[in-house]
Amino acid sequence: MRAGVRVVVTGGAGFLGSWLCRRLLADGADVVCLDSLVTGARANVAELESQPGFTFVEADVCDPIALDGPVDVVFHLASVASPVHYLRLPLETLRTGSVGTTNVLDLAERTGARFLLASTSEVYGDPLEHPQHESYWGNVNPIGPRSVYDEAKRFAEATTAAYRRCRGVDTTIARIFNTYGPRMALDDGRVVPAFVQQALAGQPLTVAGDGTQTRSLCWVEDTVDGLVRLAASSSSGPVNIGAEDETTVLELATTIRRLVGSTSSIDFVPLPQDDPRLRCPDITEAMGLLGWAPRMPLEQGLSATVDWVRERLGADLDRQPA
Ligand code: UDP
Repeated sequence: MRAGVRVVVTGGAGFLGSWLCRRLLADGADVVCLDSLVTGARANVAELESQPGFTFVEADVCDPIALDGPVDVVFHLASVASPVHYLRLPLETLRTGSVGTTNVLDLAERTGARFLLASTSEVYGDPLEHPQHESYWGNVNPIGPRSVYDEAKRFAEATTAAYRRCRGVDTTIARIFNTYGPRMALDDGRVVPAFVQQALAGQPLTVAGDGTQTRSLCWVEDTVDGLVRLAASSSSGPVNIGAEDETTVLELATTIRRLVGSTSSIDFVPLPQDDPRLRCPDITEAMGLLGWAPRMPLEQGLSATVDWVRERLGADLDRQPA
């Protein structure tokens, strides 16, 4: 990102958003981090708040966005993102994807900013094509429990494309696949922090179904680099941002258990409804258009995440009254 540009990051206090804010500040941008804190945490950006180029605004994108001054780029990440949260907040999730996205697009239109929508591999649903190329339209159950997230993001993509066509807003769409790394919320049920905490505690690792479903995990700084490159390009997207390193959930459990040095057993628990069987991006577009591909090897990234969770849990224990 060019130094001196003013960038708005909605959802900037979330896991991915807080890494993005750090990266943009390091590039020399001025960053306005806008977050409702419904699932984001002020602690994720606490050490940025003393930096001169950083402003935190507590606001919900579902309300009209009152922000003065010029804006060059908007990264729209605001949304709950983990199944645990969107199943708990179904109507709010739909509203953020629809009303919220429209408000953020209005901000981009008003300011003439480039707009990047953080969409998701979930738009492919339980895919019938593998790996998933951007040309695939997806296989989503429109009334299943996950649909509140999947369809919210599909609606957000449709709105983004319509603002480009009808209002001339300079938009792009990133379809982000599973991302992991330090600062993931430890309590939102996502597979990497769940397995790491279970392995560290010597508890059984809760593998859903028979564990043969696959995910492709991308290190958070690689994902962020893909987003920044896409925003800096002239592509209208959608562009898949994800790792091609596909692994089964059972393999992931045994890898994490080994990296932790744990003797935890594996517990097979019921598979959530509509849990996608397969997920792996085709990243030909990202490689060709953006010169981007993930760089972090999976085991190295998982080890760094294990170290962070260990440290984090230790810090939490230290804070508890004796
Ligand atoms: N999963 C699991 N055990 C857990 C948490 C998740 O086996 O304790 C599985 C989940 O059913 C899915 C995969 O891991 O197949 C990834 O789940 P996550 O919630 O991280 O993200 P998703 O890709 O489903 O959005």
